Amino acid sequence: MNDLQKRQQRQRQYLEQTDIATQAVRAGSVSGIEQEHNDAIYATSSYVFASAQEAAICFGGKHEGNIYSRFTNPTVRAFEQRIAAMEGGERAVASSSGMGALTSIFLGHLKQGDHIVSSCSIFGSIISLFDNILAKLGISTTYVSPSDLSAWQAAIQPNTKMLFLESPSNPLAELGDIAAVSALAKSVGALLVVDNCFCTPILQNPLALGADIVMHSATKYIDGQGRCVGGVAIGSDELMEPIFGFLRTAGTTMSPFNAWVFLNGLETLGLRMQAHCQGALKLANWLQDQPQVERVYYSGLESHPQHQLAKQQQRLFGGVVSFEVKGDQNAAWRCIDATQLMSITGNFGDAKSTITHPATTTHGKMTLEARALAGIKDNLIRVSVGLEAYADIEADLAQALHQL
Ligand SMILES: *Cc1c(COP(=O)(O)O)cnc(C)c1O
Repeated sequence: MNDLQKRQQRQRQYLEQTDIATQAVRAGSVSGIEQEHNDAIYATSSYVFASAQEAAICFGGKHEGNIYSRFTNPTVRAFEQRIAAMEGGERAVASSSGMGALTSIFLGHLKQGDHIVSSCSIFGSIISLFDNILAKLGISTTYVSPSDLSAWQAAIQPNTKMLFLESPSNPLAELGDIAAVSALAKSVGALLVVDNCFCTPILQNPLALGADIVMHSATKYIDGQGRCVGGVAIGSDELMEPIFGFLRTAGTTMSPFNAWVFLNGLETLGLRMQAHCQGALKLANWLQDQPQVERVYYSGLESHPQHQLAKQQQRLFGGVVSFEVKGDQNAAWRCIDATQLMSITGNFGDAKSTITHPATTTHGKMTLEARALAGIKDNLIRVSVGLEAYADIEADLAQALHQL
């Protein structure tokens, strides 16, 4: 080990005792780079060896070295190390997208005949994954309301191997009690997987609350500027190994360029989340007082039925606010079309404020009954509060609502 490597090793050990804000900037290094100030992109598909014997040892899995970038890549590993530190997990496995991470989690851990209990308020594509793809492989899913603990309990079957929860949910900010659902999972020998996209590790650490695996779509706040698609699973070494095993064979791998974008995104995530959350809280309070607004969904409001739980398991309340306008789908569309500043898109977690009509876009593929069960009405609008000046965001919605 040279002097620089020794110093870097000391730094890695020191980081274990530091705050999440420090870990977000410092944890995980792109190994192999010497005297490089910034994290670099390893744009390589494969790696060379000093000898035939070294190649044989690496391929045999007896040595940590890189073989091929479908399996490992130094830039991707740096991203994995940084987010693992921030979530308080032993190891992370990065994927091509949030859905790639979920596919790797489910197919890495489940087999034909297994059963999943899932919150009904989850990202739309995950419902397609459960109902159209996993179902075809003989893995069945029962849906329950995330906040109804007795429903979770009642849905357990002898073959239940996994519980799946997104908290807070999209778009209605419904919470699941992670500690309570985790206790139920443990009591029946199942794994609890938590989708932590909306909170990011800055607001909520599901592993500390008892979850076994936490996942993110890095596409959202972790990137934060709408550039790349990516995902990641985090947990113990033991639980990550089958996920990695699936990924290296199935190829749901993150690209080094995307890993580099996310690695840099993590450095500003704490400051950005504070700004997103501050704006969202102000906007939710303001929306409550508008005559054209029927109802506001935001866990930071005292009127939210799970405000206490949100205070317990989250540090802040998130950057997304949903609200129903008075009227039907037509009124919601008119309000969306009347905004001048916001981007009309399905994405959230961007520096730019975005506005979405969930019933016809992100949740448009759900059956009418499933959408009704999830409580997503035709007059619902979702706003992801961006980093523009708050007064401009409010003014944009004010003039849009005024036209109803
Ligand atoms: C976007 C999203 C996903 C899927 O992630 P992709 O990166 O789009 O594949 C999963 N869960 C939630 C809550 C999301 O918002």
